[in-house]
Amino acid sequence: MARYTDASCRLCRREGEKLFLKGERCYTNKCAVAKRVYAPGQHGQQKKKLSEYGVQLREKQKARRFYGILESQFRKYFDMASKKKGVTGETLLQLLETRLDNTVYRLGLATSRPEARQLVTHGHFTVNGKKVNIPSYLLKVGDVVAVKERSKSSPKIKAISEITGSKVIPKWLEFDGENLTGKVVALPAREDIDLPIKEHLIVELYSK
Ligand code: SF4
Repeated sequence: MARYTDASCRLCRREGEKLFLKGERCYTNKCAVAKRVYAPGQHGQQKKKLSEYGVQLREKQKARRFYGILESQFRKYFDMASKKKGVTGETLLQLLETRLDNTVYRLGLATSRPEARQLVTHGHFTVNGKKVNIPSYLLKVGDVVAVKERSKSSPKIKAISEITGSKVIPKWLEFDGENLTGKVVALPAREDIDLPIKEHLIVELYSK
């Protein structure tokens, strides 16, 4: 599966806000957004007024980059959301939240979404007892995500648990820190998703 491999901090600088792609570093004064509050590149410091289309496009790009998803897959999520009952923008965010990599991150089993994606790809997790190494795997209510038995003693997983130990787990998940297991107890509601995304702008963009 293709993915973005350029410098993550450039993405945050482009969007003008923290996307939290680098774990602990994002909370330190080494954060590139804290140091340089303008877009990357030769013309990054020019102030331009965005058109209506530009505003919608930036919002979509920001959402995509928060979750680390390429355009074609993001569009598929939008198409899926628009076919479901309910508010399309909220359903879109709900789909993105219930991806396995995002859920691993929300459970505090990774310090960032890119790290969660890598851990999932490397086969450190099970869903309902079966190994799943697909970051885009969509979880349902009742699904149980667990760190694979053999991975529980890995120094990397232990180090992550120490860093994320005090992380607040969203209401739609239940977490058992001793067994490194999480359960989806509900689908995430909009108020459970703490990302600064104006999803109606994404819907407007794709509905043109
Ligand atoms: Fe973004 Fe984190 Fe880099 Fe800051 S340190 S620019 S939040 S990825």
